[in-house]
Amino acid sequence: MHKKDSSHFELLFNIGELADLVTGSSDLEGFLIRSVELVSRHFDAPVCSIYLYNEISDQLILKATKGLKPDAVNRIHMKPGEGLVGRSFEDLSIIRVGDATKTPGFKYFAEAGEDPYYSFLCVPIRRGVEKIGVLTVQHQDMDYFDISDERAIRAVVTQLAGSIENARLLIELSQTRSDDTQKIPLAFVKGKPATGGYAFGKAVVLNGKKRSVLYDPVAFEEQFTKKDFLRAVEKTTLELKELQKGFAQRLPESASLIFTAHFMILKDKNFIGKMETLIDEGKLPFNAVRKVAARYISIFSSSPHAYMREKAQDVEDLCVRILNNFGSENEADQYEKGSIAIARQVFPSDILKFVSAGIRGIILASGGVTSHVTILARSLQLPLIMTEEAQLLVLPENSRILLDGELGNIYINPGQDTLDLFENQLKVKQLSVTSPIKKQTLTSDNEPVTLLANINLLSEVALARQMNAEGIGLYRTEFPFLIRATFPSEAEQYVIYKKLFDDMKDLPVTVRTLDAGGEKTLAYSDSYKEDNPELGLRSIRFSLRHRDIFEFQIRAMLRAAAGKDNVRIMFPLISSIDEFLEARQIVHDCMNALDKEEIEYNPDVGIGMMIELPSVLETIDEFAKEADFFSVGTNDFIQYMLAADRANKMVADHYIPYHPAVNRGLGKISAAAQKQGIDISVCGEMAHEKEYIPFLLGIGIRILSVDPQFLPMVQKTIMNLSIKDAQNYAEKMMAQTTIKGAKAVLDSWSL
Ligand code: PEP
Ligand code: MG
Repeated sequence: MHKKDSSHFELLFNIGELADLVTGSSDLEGFLIRSVELVSRHFDAPVCSIYLYNEISDQLILKATKGLKPDAVNRIHMKPGEGLVGRSFEDLSIIRVGDATKTPGFKYFAEAGEDPYYSFLCVPIRRGVEKIGVLTVQHQDMDYFDISDERAIRAVVTQLAGSIENARLLIELSQTRSDDTQKIPLAFVKGKPATGGYAFGKAVVLNGKKRSVLYDPVAFEEQFTKKDFLRAVEKTTLELKELQKGFAQRLPESASLIFTAHFMILKDKNFIGKMETLIDEGKLPFNAVRKVAARYISIFSSSPHAYMREKAQDVEDLCVRILNNFGSENEADQYEKGSIAIARQVFPSDILKFVSAGIRGIILASGGVTSHVTILARSLQLPLIMTEEAQLLVLPENSRILLDGELGNIYINPGQDTLDLFENQLKVKQLSVTSPIKKQTLTSDNEPVTLLANINLLSEVALARQMNAEGIGLYRTEFPFLIRATFPSEAEQYVIYKKLFDDMKDLPVTVRTLDAGGEKTLAYSDSYKEDNPELGLRSIRFSLRHRDIFEFQIRAMLRAAAGKDNVRIMFPLISSIDEFLEARQIVHDCMNALDKEEIEYNPDVGIGMMIELPSVLETIDEFAKEADFFSVGTNDFIQYMLAADRANKMVADHYIPYHPAVNRGLGKISAAAQKQGIDISVCGEMAHEKEYIPFLLGIGIRILSVDPQFLPMVQKTIMNLSIKDAQNYAEKMMAQTTIKGAKAVLDSWSL
């Protein structure tokens, strides 16, 4: 009956082989079974089991066992804290008992056939701070396991944890690659909401499967001729033109951009021409398309540049369209209208393609997302949810998904009750979103506050107007730059800005110059890989370094503003007076050049700056003398003041908008603007956060610029407070020197 200590050592040495077991196993379960068999053998214990924690159901589930009944797998589960296994998991403690049946909290599962086992040893499986599950060994003798077993098994589990995590990863990958969709009983996934809104539709899993026509033979494909091929190419061209036209209405700034690559490829003689040659040489038309596609895709995919790799998708998309257009009855679109797209990763251009294809919502499974993808989706009112749940990528065909973009909830094949509930919520939401705000916003003691809108896309201007925004406080100009592989020309930008100013008629509009870099990486600038992009060549620094790009933008703005009264230009991320003066000088140089060229422009645009860096605080009075206005970008101001990445959830606790340094900094900026008599607005997200509005008004801010959907809530908040109260409150807030003290004051304001 006695175990040999040497076997423990043997196990410790051989456990490295588990990595091979992973690759040798066809699925996670297979790997786990081999692992429990190995542990059971080495510990001379008849039972060894692994329970894994499932976050969605918040349960530990028996995933593999040697010794218990095999059909207990997946059927035995317990909550953290429940039974010995649950307790070991929750407390991250090793539990060793000599007679489990007499131990309080022991949970007995008859279906597992575990009654004859008395000795019980369970060890939590963890990876760093992540809890993964529990491994147990059992023996029919009482008091079988001793302290040396405890130590040995802890060492074993430490090594196993890494392999389990690897196994998960490998299996996830192979699942997304494999075509056999698994029966996944997923019903609900909790994700992170990125944009708000609701959507219900058929799931379409991207990354691979839908494009199979490009890789797998289709029935009767050999019957098609060269004539069919030429017709398919023709049809594809027309189809793309049609799509482009539809797009022009919804997203004017990208109309000419989105299918540019497709048209260029279609024009490339080596592309269609090569296909024709192959057909003439006797290749079947389908295979000729596949062969040329494969060559282009492989060239693009192996490029070190992200924007070139993105082109591989364009080639794929184009060739799938051509192949689908061989048959007259084929659906050319790869996505069904009204679907919910599930993908690992999306580019900004994908978002635009989704819109043109009628996709209603997006789930990003186990992929990162940059803020411009989020902002773009929000502007297009596409609900977007991010999740780590890779199982969504292998959802069976025809699954239906309900997205609650407000809470980040994903319901898979929801019941009618759930759907009814959401339909009602949607009706209420639509009412409040489209109802305009009062034309004038007054506090309860009659102080006027100006409410402006933040806009990312021209398509949002209509909403801003409809909601009665008093103007545009921030137009982010980067999107036309982000969604394409080359920067937009002066002429292209002119069209965009002109439409913006025209649509806003006489209302004031503040346009911000390019805020590239950081996480808003331009495809054509990725040769500048930076270790620390947030502190790198971003924003105005990028514009000043690439003066030609900057000048094209300024010229386009000045020209588009001709004849308008209320246009202002501002520079983002200004760090010194020198930088502001340099940027402003470029505007004046552009004016001089336009004069010489006798091109009409607006010589009276206001020139201001965003306040986003703490470095401006010490010379803020001098800045106020130079700039025509200030606009406070609290998102970046807080990030840089507190050295806490605004998009990194690991440091979300450090990103504190009411931090004493932030409060006093904002107070100082506002005082400088008031002293100099220049406009100051807040356009960062703090401006739409209910709890911070009293402070902002209390320090003298009278202009807030927010995403249009927040206007009703912001107006209501303002109308319910008095400036007198806000001032007293802000004074108290400014007196605080600790985060704790500031939090107490924050909590004292009842909204
Ligand atoms: C800000 O930093 O607060 C801001 C409005 O700019 P962006 O969010 O575009 O960086
Ligand atoms: Mg900013």
